[in-house]
Amino acid sequence: MTKWVYSFGAGHNEGGAELRNLLGGKGANLAEMAAIGLPVPPGFTLTTEVCTAFYDNDRNYPSGLEEEVQTALSRIEQAVGLRFGDRQKPLLVSVRSGARVSMPGMMDTVLNLGLNDETVQGLIAASNDTRFAWDSYRRFVQMYSSVVLGVDHHRFEEIISDIKLDAGGLTEDTALTAEHWQQVVASYKDMVRNETGKPFPEDPRDQLWGAIGAVFGSWMNPRANTYRRLHDIPASWGTAVNVQAMVFGNMGNDCATGVCFTRDPATGENVFYGEYLVNAQGEDVVAGIRTPQPVSSTKAKPGETPMEAVMPEAYAELMRVRETLEQHYRDMQDIEFTVQQHKLYMLQTRNGKRTAAASLRIAVDMASEGLIDRNEAIRRVNPSALDQLLHPMLDPSAKRTLLSKGLPASPGAASGNVVFSADEAESRAGKGEAVILVRVETSPEDIHGMHAAKGILTTRGGMTSHAAVVARGMGRPCVAGAGGITVDYGAQTMRTAGHVLRAGDTITLDGATGEVFVGNVPMIEPQLSDDFATLMAWADAARKLGVRANAETPLDAETARKFGAEGIGLCRTEHMFFDPERISAVRQMIMASDERGRRTALAKLLPHQRQDFYELFKIMAGLPVTVRLLDPPLHEFLPHADAELADVARALGTDMESVRARVQELAEANPMLGHRGCRLGITYPEIYEMQARAIFEGALMVEKESGAAPHPEIMIPLVGMRRELEITRAQVEGVAKAVFEEAGHTLDYSIGTMIELPRAAIVADRIAEVADFFSFGTNDLTQTVFGLSRDDAGKFLPRYVELEILPKDPFISLDIEGVGAMVRMAAEKGRSTKPNLKLGICGEHGGDPASIAFCSQVGLDYVSCSPYRVPVARLAAAQAALGVEGDRTA
Ligand code: ADP
Ligand code: MG
Ligand code: MG
Repeated sequence: MTKWVYSFGAGHNEGGAELRNLLGGKGANLAEMAAIGLPVPPGFTLTTEVCTAFYDNDRNYPSGLEEEVQTALSRIEQAVGLRFGDRQKPLLVSVRSGARVSMPGMMDTVLNLGLNDETVQGLIAASNDTRFAWDSYRRFVQMYSSVVLGVDHHRFEEIISDIKLDAGGLTEDTALTAEHWQQVVASYKDMVRNETGKPFPEDPRDQLWGAIGAVFGSWMNPRANTYRRLHDIPASWGTAVNVQAMVFGNMGNDCATGVCFTRDPATGENVFYGEYLVNAQGEDVVAGIRTPQPVSSTKAKPGETPMEAVMPEAYAELMRVRETLEQHYRDMQDIEFTVQQHKLYMLQTRNGKRTAAASLRIAVDMASEGLIDRNEAIRRVNPSALDQLLHPMLDPSAKRTLLSKGLPASPGAASGNVVFSADEAESRAGKGEAVILVRVETSPEDIHGMHAAKGILTTRGGMTSHAAVVARGMGRPCVAGAGGITVDYGAQTMRTAGHVLRAGDTITLDGATGEVFVGNVPMIEPQLSDDFATLMAWADAARKLGVRANAETPLDAETARKFGAEGIGLCRTEHMFFDPERISAVRQMIMASDERGRRTALAKLLPHQRQDFYELFKIMAGLPVTVRLLDPPLHEFLPHADAELADVARALGTDMESVRARVQELAEANPMLGHRGCRLGITYPEIYEMQARAIFEGALMVEKESGAAPHPEIMIPLVGMRRELEITRAQVEGVAKAVFEEAGHTLDYSIGTMIELPRAAIVADRIAEVADFFSFGTNDLTQTVFGLSRDDAGKFLPRYVELEILPKDPFISLDIEGVGAMVRMAAEKGRSTKPNLKLGICGEHGGDPASIAFCSQVGLDYVSCSPYRVPVARLAAAQAALGVEGDRTA
């Protein structure tokens, strides 16, 4: 037979922390605290299985529940010497919801349940405090009516202000007397009868079952449903209900209620951090009606009255509890307590939420204090949270003018000139200008502009709007839904109450706070703490996967090294082609009608490319650098504007019309699947030859200068057939031989391919025969395995995730079932013909913790990600080695 109800406190603990799934977080920890001897008012928990049974059974309770509740209630009565509904000595209880994970959207707590016009007399007699009793009663009627009966909370505030007015214009609640509160209760009840058409329930048992029903009912309310969907919480988990004997923090000046963290949740410093209020109840501390006071003297400012000074015994007890809880849970705790006549009672504990900085510090400190070991410290820090610490931030000492504020949709700060369209963003960014894309909202058609922009600002939409989601995925700072700004696309302006800005004006975004500033606010690199370095060192010792960065500019490469990258996993050479100085030569190459014309243009590009590689190799001193030869469809480089056409015509000695005709000739219906990747290298071998030469010559320059030989890994993109790699490999080897002969010196290098087409994965054993390494290009592999274009996916992918057709956006987190199976197969097949084949991943997924866990399982040698994600990847790789599955929501 199923047991539906678990008692805790007063020496009878049927549950504990290990029963979290059954008892919910709150119930399990109340039982645990009671079991380790902390002062917890007795109570009981209706399990999450009651909730599941309730919904499975058409909203009916399982049989036997009522008896079990009755038995557990009697146990409380005996323990505290009071009786539920008794006129002389009434037992009052709280009814509290509690799921496995704390969940906003669930029913709020009801306190002082069991009061009615008769039992309130008992409370008066027992406490000898009329005002306290009526205050408790009105709190109960108010909470019950609003959370259980659904009466709008404004109605209660109206009644209280009417009574204050009648009493001669009182302002403070504290000025109200017992008689006033009694009057409030009567008015409340009248109002509730009018609003709901029913009298307020007087029978404590009706009140109890009403509150229990409301908690279970709230599990399926829209707010809770939305929260669950956003946080991947299954509806089948259910919530528990806790019923607990009341203790009173509002019985006088020797009473109080408070909330604390056992360490500072903002910095992680090992100091007790908390707030309390004398003569208060429940959430008065956080309600903002009275100003809470600090718990500890060390945290007190002049004029404040710390609990340590006012209630020394209760404070000393609280310090012992702090010690006990940290020793027991071995983590920072967030606790709620009440003091009734100098005696401390514990009402809740849970692992405290904290900033990323605090999470690092607490993990490292606790390992040093011996509370946890190093591996546990590694497990404790959520890799994705590190993101917050790694992006450039606004210089806190810089002057700034706030323009407006929206939602902090994607972390990091960015300055740039305002543009109002994606095309404009792309074209200006192409000329090297830093731009901020400002839109009312964004759509999939804006992706190229979002990519080109340094930051994104929208005036509409929330944290899950297109702009927010895409920006986070791309690592672009984003402020979303800044409703104070009005954008006028026609006039090319954005205005607020105080400012009008035009296209081209500079603004600065702070994606961590949601603030938008006028002009250019100076930025600083983040200060990485010693704790960061310590934890990273521990992570490096624990991980097996290598971590590299995707980088093509010297700045990227420097950032990557600073963050601990062990090489470059992807250098995209085409980015070097977009440089304004070079684009003209690139266009000449494409437009040339024959090989000779192409070679002339390529000769102009060679010195630039050689310089690029030289700089990159120098920074990466001796580390491996994977260079991908030209990949994108040529049409991306084609001239469009008349000035561009004229420029190319002049250089080629023809007229604009023939250039225009050639552009049309080169246009493709489906460029992503068109003339790109190694298909270019095979049809125009001179392109890859020039690039290979630039790589080898650049590498030799660095070796000559520094003595440290860089290790180039030359990567051929979009291979689907073994023969493609064989041909391009031979070209590159030919160039190597020629360059080494000219220099009289050789260099180690390797040649491999990207695996980004299903065919390549299927014949990976054959391709491996001619490859030194594979790098999984999981962006394109995801597109080609799904047969969907990333740039067009925005129209339906969010809906797919909503309907759970896909668990997550497969461009953010690797689709383990499909794309992952391809990766696994290719890895196995590749190593079947070449056991020492080096394997890596260079898609966006290389920085995603869940995808990294998968890469570790499949036995890849390294992951490669954007420079700012390198620490995230190092930590995630360590967690993968320690068996933590992907990302954890702390
Ligand atoms: P939440 O989950 O929103 O924190 P809780 O169930 O913890 O809600 O209740 C909020 C507050 O109500 C607690 O912090 C505590 O101050 C008060 N409270 C709850 N139960 C009791 C009780 N049995 N006696 C006294 N105060 C209580
Ligand atoms: Mg609350
Ligand atoms: Mg609480």
